[in-house]
Amino acid sequence: MRSLIKKGPMMRRGYLFLALAFAARLLITQPLQAEGELKTEYVVLVTIDGLRNEELFGGADPKLLNNSKRSGAENSARLKKQYWRETPKLRREALLPFFWGTLAKQGVVLGNRALGSDAEVSNPHHFSYPGYAEIMTGQPQASIKSNKAVPSPRETVLEYVGRKFKLPREKVAAICSWSVFNSITAKVEGSIFCNAGFEAVPEKYLTPGMMAANEAQFRLTTPWDTVRHDWVTLTIANEYLKSQQPKFFYVALAETDDWGHERRYDRVLQAANYFDESLRTLWTTLQGSPRYRGKTSLVILTDHGRGHTVDDWVSHSARIPGSAEIWIAVVGPDTPNRGEEGSKGTFSQSQVAATILRLYGLDYRDFNSDCARPIGAAFR
Ligand SMILES: [Zn+2]
Repeated sequence: MRSLIKKGPMMRRGYLFLALAFAARLLITQPLQAEGELKTEYVVLVTIDGLRNEELFGGADPKLLNNSKRSGAENSARLKKQYWRETPKLRREALLPFFWGTLAKQGVVLGNRALGSDAEVSNPHHFSYPGYAEIMTGQPQASIKSNKAVPSPRETVLEYVGRKFKLPREKVAAICSWSVFNSITAKVEGSIFCNAGFEAVPEKYLTPGMMAANEAQFRLTTPWDTVRHDWVTLTIANEYLKSQQPKFFYVALAETDDWGHERRYDRVLQAANYFDESLRTLWTTLQGSPRYRGKTSLVILTDHGRGHTVDDWVSHSARIPGSAEIWIAVVGPDTPNRGEEGSKGTFSQSQVAATILRLYGLDYRDFNSDCARPIGAAFR
């Protein structure tokens, strides 16, 4: 464009060219401006249901490790051997070695109140579907007041990304442990690929690596009718990631919450540790792929907190203090490598959708004019 201006034969024509060139440049750069210098082309969203700040930032909770009656742990001695360490920092590294040893160092982790970082849900209910609705739409949804499987009341961030980039259905995918995600992830049924709860993978997408888990989910059942083992979800998810190479991928794990409700702290820690292993598996797949490596951002969070005490840690609701407290991590090529440093401030679950859209260079106000703003701390 500049060379065109220089070659203008006459002064007046030169000015005209200059004006036209300037206008054209504005037109061309305007839609790209939001994108800036961002390197992200792919986003992987991972949620883990009801994993408390206590465990994420401090590892196994001493109050519960030393109280088998209130923790419900069947083998306290073994549990202590696995997860007890002298300091919270060592305990969290024992519970979540990949998260703290690798991921946190390559991104930001928000929500450690001891450091003045406050991450909360914005909905008034403090349980799952209202939380996921907030994540999916960028604001609390007044009509979502229960965990009933009703379709998302608004277009979800998954559907929006698929629509804006004109993607085939399977390029936006959600693989989830809880069956209600078939409703949570889409306003229009079938607009994205979703496999959730005890649900077989359609033959078209079944890979040899998925077959054992796809079959086992119906035989190795859980205590719950709507939640399959996270191992099944992760195994299918990791295979799907490799075979379909989605542009936007969502993996929703759930066992931490359900074992919490059952008052089995030993199983909660086991599930939290498996969540860490899941992150390692997904990250290894992403880093081993030329398509994804260096171009993928990972957004990880929980949908709600739970009680702080040895009595109410099992549950969460508007009446149980601690239930609104969450944590959010963002890792990727556009996020500063600051870990918990520089995470001071107040953050909301509602900001996750806009953060993802900004990573893609998309305008969150076009998605939802009432959408909360992107998390500034997640960007360089
Ligand atoms: Zn719950």
